Amino acid sequence: MKTCLTPPLSAPACFAGIVSLAGMLFVSTLTIAHADDTPVASTADARDKSPTDVEPAYQPKSKSELRRSLNRMQYDVTQNEATEPAFRNKYWDNKKEGTYHCIVCEQELFDSKTKFKSGTGWPSFYQPKDEKVVGFRNDWRLIYTRVEVHCSRCGAHLGHVFDDGPEPTGKRYCMNSASLNFVEADKSAKNKPAPNKPADSVSAGQDAKQD
Ligand SMILES: [Zn+2]
Repeated sequence: MKTCLTPPLSAPACFAGIVSLAGMLFVSTLTIAHADDTPVASTADARDKSPTDVEPAYQPKSKSELRRSLNRMQYDVTQNEATEPAFRNKYWDNKKEGTYHCIVCEQELFDSKTKFKSGTGWPSFYQPKDEKVVGFRNDWRLIYTRVEVHCSRCGAHLGHVFDDGPEPTGKRYCMNSASLNFVEADKSAKNKPAPNKPADSVSAGQDAKQD
């Protein structure tokens, strides 16, 4: 019964100790947790996780919120699967280095390093930032089937993916600029080591690839 002499243990713990050691530990833990009167388990869990492990819960926006925060083209494309005009959109010829985020929920979708000149007039990438950030559905609206691409977090329509892209994936993610928000690299990652070449020439390799 030496465990019952341990100062922090309370009466319920002593009683449980008679039954079994495991039972005592369980009950005393409960007793201490109750005495603290705070959600111990959840705060401890949150503390143990690094910020990158804690996925912020996405709160879907209502249609009226979306209408306020998006312009008409952005709303029609992301919510009604409309397609913006080729060559008359924001990013089809954007060669700056950075990341493309979902216009609705800001999830990171594409890296400029995977952008290539497709000649279609829409921003085109050979792969998403991570395979988990996009979802797919068959789109039967044309006489041939296309694979629709949407944001995995908020469901915003982004564009379509085709099998005629360049190496290394052979995929062409044909996106609508209206679905995307571009964040330039030097503005989003100031603490990264400086590249060996001047920032202005970062798209040189991309130019070669695109032209
Ligand atoms: Zn999204």
